[in-house]
Amino acid sequence: MSNTQQYDVIIIGAGAAGLMAAGRAAHLGARVLLVEKMRQAGRKLLITGKGRCNITHDGTEVEYFKNIFPNGRFLKHAFKTFFKDDILKILHDFGVETTTERGNRVFPVSNKAIDVLKAIKAWMGEENIDIVYRSRVESLLIKEGQLKGIRTVSESGSVDYFAKNVIICTGGKSYPATGSTGDGYELARQAGHTITNVRPALVPLVTEGDLAGKLQGLGLKNVKAVVWVNGKKSSEEFGELMFAHYGLTGPIILTLSRHVVDLVSDGNNVEIGIDLKPALDEKKLDARLLRDLNEHGKKQLDNIFKLWLPSKLIPVFLEQLGIDGEKLCHQVNAKERKRILMLMKDFRFTVTGHPGYKEAIITAGGVPVLEINSKTMESKLLKNLWFAGEVIDLDANTGGFNLQIAFSTGFLAGEMAASNYKSASTL
Ligand SMILES: Cc1cc2nc3c(=O)[nH]c(=O)nc-3n(C[C@H](O)[C@H](O)[C@H](O)COP(=O)(O)OP(=O)(O)OC[C@H]3O[C@@H](n4cnc5c(N)ncnc54)[C@H](O)[C@@H]3O)c2cc1C
Repeated sequence: MSNTQQYDVIIIGAGAAGLMAAGRAAHLGARVLLVEKMRQAGRKLLITGKGRCNITHDGTEVEYFKNIFPNGRFLKHAFKTFFKDDILKILHDFGVETTTERGNRVFPVSNKAIDVLKAIKAWMGEENIDIVYRSRVESLLIKEGQLKGIRTVSESGSVDYFAKNVIICTGGKSYPATGSTGDGYELARQAGHTITNVRPALVPLVTEGDLAGKLQGLGLKNVKAVVWVNGKKSSEEFGELMFAHYGLTGPIILTLSRHVVDLVSDGNNVEIGIDLKPALDEKKLDARLLRDLNEHGKKQLDNIFKLWLPSKLIPVFLEQLGIDGEKLCHQVNAKERKRILMLMKDFRFTVTGHPGYKEAIITAGGVPVLEINSKTMESKLLKNLWFAGEVIDLDANTGGFNLQIAFSTGFLAGEMAASNYKSASTL
């Protein structure tokens, strides 16, 4: 054990939530220590939005509540304190222009996540803040029921830091190479918190056999994916998906994964049926097939498929149908046409699992919101302990919601922890 140091607010984790918390607390005059186990801040922020960073969602509070699970309303006060316009103002003030794309997703005009990180760090500043990198917080220091500080470990050994307030901003467990390995759950447990069912969310899905693998790299736009559970239709999403060597991915698959992961782990038989022609009902699609087959009667079937499907899909599709692609269109009988129709409306894949945290955009579960004061982000179980970001049992669909959760809860926790220090120092 080496030296000891005293701060007003200690923040564990320099991700989106930790940086906001540190900036807000320091601007309010608190002496802040920010501890990060990686060699730099914001490793995950840098890979958000495929390196472009979908900063926030330009939508109403109600839209946010609909897209956040299990209970977005917990964030009502955090959003009142700091919402999308507030993070955008900070970014604009520090030179990052932003643009709103399809689905109200806000990105930096430069398309560079690093610009967002740089601006947040510039806003945070250095005054009142010490940052320690490559130090992992291994435990909270709690004496006779009172929070005293933290114990860190690094290559050079173990160091204790003391503060009245500690904010846990350690993120979840997804993409562990960015530093988020679930340490915050253990720290919270130490303070008496329970941790709700932690699991990957917004994760690709692994499917049976090599069907998806044969289509690896193919992306489909404007399709509908329908989830079938034990033979019954359960949910559906319309939009874009992609095939990977292990199964299915892309926006609509990630959205559906929230329920699918739980359904599969509960032992259900889960299938995904892709409707390749969602704009046409069976009757209209049949009329279209019939018309094209008649019009091109002397052509080979595989040639005509080009009118209906992307070329990469055609050989695999024909293989699934068990119809010879060299057959002439006028030779296709009504039964075969019906099979083509059914497969176009319901191209099925059996889901066997998911690739785990290394590919999950977000971690569902965490410190239950019932154990946190929504007005302050303070623990209801241990005074002067605060939470912000993904470590809390809150996760959202894609679209910029998840970063906004981290920014809003980080800002609020930083503000409240700092005012807590102030009221203590004026006593
Ligand atoms: C590939 C990918 C793309 C994404 N894209 C988007 C997007 O475009 N838009 C969006 O809204 N969301 C996106 N997300 C989700 C978003 O990145 C997270 O929700 C958000 O970063 C959570 O912020 P956080 O500060 O809570 O946690 P993190 O960003 O995970 O930060 C936690 C920090 O704590 C540190 N830490 C952990 N344990 C310790 C410890 N014991 N001691 C010291 N430090 C510790 C970690 O090293 C890390 O730096 C994406 C996620 C991924 C994986």
